[in-house]
Amino acid sequence: MKNIIIYGIVFLASINAALAQNPSEIPLDQEWKDKITKLAPEKANFPFKKKKKILVFSLHTGFWHWVNPHTSAMIEILGEKSGAFDVTTSTDIAMMQKDKLKEFDAVVFNNTNSKPQYRNLFVDKISEDTSLDSLTVWTEANKLEDNIIEYVKKGGGILIVHGGNTMLNNSMAFSKLTGGSFDYHTKQQAFQVRIEDPSHPLTKSLPVEGYNHVDEPYFYKNAYEESDFHPLTYFNNAEIEGQKKGQEKTSGKTYVSWIRKEGKGRAMYISTSHNAQSFENASILAYFLDALQYVVGDVKVDETPIGK
Ligand SMILES: [Zn+2]
Repeated sequence: MKNIIIYGIVFLASINAALAQNPSEIPLDQEWKDKITKLAPEKANFPFKKKKKILVFSLHTGFWHWVNPHTSAMIEILGEKSGAFDVTTSTDIAMMQKDKLKEFDAVVFNNTNSKPQYRNLFVDKISEDTSLDSLTVWTEANKLEDNIIEYVKKGGGILIVHGGNTMLNNSMAFSKLTGGSFDYHTKQQAFQVRIEDPSHPLTKSLPVEGYNHVDEPYFYKNAYEESDFHPLTYFNNAEIEGQKKGQEKTSGKTYVSWIRKEGKGRAMYISTSHNAQSFENASILAYFLDALQYVVGDVKVDETPIGK
């Protein structure tokens, strides 16, 4: 009997732990938007002369993130409330044509997850037209990728959010542009996101001790090894459970967000947020607004890469 009670307690405790680890899906309704609007900053931290234009690109061909529409809505709310930018949302790859891209000061790649086979969002999408041969598909896809790289070099900004880094995950050129490719993530867990440099203008909205929340800790590969970026936040590897066998890191840190200069433009990556609940936090919303102001070019900050 005693054992049954103990097993029962252990079982219930593990259910509670599982529930705590995976926040449930919440609807994108007016109530949620009102909550985010209330928590969003009244005004932008960095002064701006003119209202900017941001494209939130949310096409996915691979893993569907339920947070995808919430992320778009959150960015729209930040723009509306602060008056810093107008948002256009799209899932149309035609928006990656040169003449379309140049209409925007920055592009957000919102959980633009590709399929595992090629890890190329554009190949996935273009090949839906089965009349096209593979050479045509890849030529078109590479053109769109080149357009993005050229757009940044000429002065555009890109912000890649969470799974967005998988969109062209096997391309070294895209990896260099964004600072690193996706390797894997562990199960969701509560972990501490820490601040690399609390004096950096882009981390000022976050608490100095960082923040603890439930998310997927991301690990990276390809260009990440070169550390050709300026990191903003990180986690301690030793604190992350469930790391890939044979790749366990018991010391050091993995970056959660960073920025990098490319030509006249800017790229930023933020590996959080798998859940919309992450946005129900005034300092995280302010951090996103700061990030968006950085990619549109409203603020000049230290972008010195740590790897060089
Ligand atoms: Zn995710």
